Amino acid sequence: MIIDFSQEIYSYEDLISDSKALAKQYKQIIQYVTIGESHDNRDIVMLRLGTGKRYILFCAGVHGRETINPIVLMKMTEYYAKQYEDYINKKPRYNQRTFSKNLEQQYENMIFAKCIYELLHTYTILMIPLLNPDGYMISLYGPKAIRSPALQKKLKNLKYNYKEWKYNGRGVDINRNFPCRSWKPKGPYDYAASENETKALIQVFHQYKIRCFLDFHSRGKSIYYYRNSMNRDYNENQLYIAKRIKHITKYELNNAANEIDYGDSGGNTVHYFSEHFYKPAITIETVDENASFPLNNSYRASTYDELKLVLFELGGLSL
Ligand SMILES: [Zn+2]
Repeated sequence: MIIDFSQEIYSYEDLISDSKALAKQYKQIIQYVTIGESHDNRDIVMLRLGTGKRYILFCAGVHGRETINPIVLMKMTEYYAKQYEDYINKKPRYNQRTFSKNLEQQYENMIFAKCIYELLHTYTILMIPLLNPDGYMISLYGPKAIRSPALQKKLKNLKYNYKEWKYNGRGVDINRNFPCRSWKPKGPYDYAASENETKALIQVFHQYKIRCFLDFHSRGKSIYYYRNSMNRDYNENQLYIAKRIKHITKYELNNAANEIDYGDSGGNTVHYFSEHFYKPAITIETVDENASFPLNNSYRASTYDELKLVLFELGGLSL
């Protein structure tokens, strides 16, 4: 086991060394890719899981303080890779007669592992566990996590409760920085796609033919699927996929009217993706609505249980 939920703090450095360890242990099926660099010079990492020609993208850690989803995506990557490897390694043994104890259970396990094996041959899952590493580190350690003196000085002047830090290292909300129909400037110097993290994700969007994009946030145990800017056919397909995700996670579907809060400036990751590619893009909010920041580590295991089979379900939809 590489990803350990019992670690008190899961730092950016832990996430990087675990990503490298996963790519090393499961080299047939996991590839470590750097997709960009944050403003405080941290690598933004993506794990490519699978060998298929169809791409599904999972992203987490857009907002600094949402510290549960990054480690959960790491654990999911490990889980699927392990099932894949177990299937390859154990395959011949299932044919032996000596294997009769709990035979039914063993066949079930084998069929499940075979499905994952096939899933990862059909699809490649692009896992970006932490799009905003600077913001994540600020929420864990405060402004001292930032190494650039200029950025650190700027942060210290802000007088902010850093445990609730949503933004990147320059104080920009990445999820309001994507160029799309709903984007509005939030100040005289504000422009869309100004941030390294935004550019890194946009580049991934354009580099791969992605069939479905899920962006994981916290809080609310709910699913945002409706897009004001898109037509009815698009939204019907969104609803269909959102219902399948609801079936797995037991999260609620958000009312279409709540897609953008009143007075919100838009510019979300999913807006950009929907408008540019006309493919499903859904925001999943994990963790209880009333949870406070910093989020309790006990949410790691419960969120993992809720999300673990989402990928399996999507694979069955023939996206
Ligand atoms: Zn968020």
